[in-house]
Amino acid sequence: MEDFKVIRDSMVKTQLIPRGIKDEGVLDAMKKVPRHLFVPESSRHNAYEDMALSIGEGQTISQPYMAAVMTELLELKGDERILEIGAGSGYQAAILAELAKKVYTIERITSLADGALKLLASLGYENIQVVVCDGTKGLSDKAPFDRILVTAAAPEIPEPLVSQLNEGGIIVAPVGERFSQVLIKGKKEKGLLVKEQHTSCVFVPLIGEYGLKG
Ligand code: SAH
Repeated sequence: MEDFKVIRDSMVKTQLIPRGIKDEGVLDAMKKVPRHLFVPESSRHNAYEDMALSIGEGQTISQPYMAAVMTELLELKGDERILEIGAGSGYQAAILAELAKKVYTIERITSLADGALKLLASLGYENIQVVVCDGTKGLSDKAPFDRILVTAAAPEIPEPLVSQLNEGGIIVAPVGERFSQVLIKGKKEKGLLVKEQHTSCVFVPLIGEYGLKG
């Protein structure tokens, strides 16, 4: 475990700080969450490398830098209720849970949701709820949310997510084509999203009613 802590600190120093991640909370969360436990055992030696990794079912855990950028763009202060679409391994949810009050994370693949739930519980995260459903429809019974993070790619930000975002809230999502997207940050002002474009990226597809058809 100690060895992984050293490698994790070095990941923050060499991959995140030089590329402009400044939020101390984000850097601390990235230093703390044991990413190696969220990847298959066979990939553990690569857990802190600068790359996305397969987590089974054709899905991937994002590169550490991408997780950090998305989290920084959410501008978390600590009291937010967050909705994440695409729980995958549960890693991003753990990062968010370090920095906010409550995280709801949706996953469409039951086996991934089960794995994420077990691991997050074993790590003691009590402020994360994992839900199996089509996240493109959001989570209407828990809405509205202060922040929404989509960790799978869609041609557009699904409309139900915009309506489930609080006024003044922030949504971050990779938007674009099947193999190339741009990270969009949208802030809800007077009911509409004011959007900014950030880094280019490649995420697995968001599959569902308001995403790509499965
Ligand atoms: N955030 C994850 C990685 C996400 S990979 C992590 O930290 O590990 C994207 C995930 O989105 C995949 O697990 C995929 O199954 C899921 N996904 C795709 N479309 C979805 C949808 N409509 N609703 C919920 N999850 C979806």
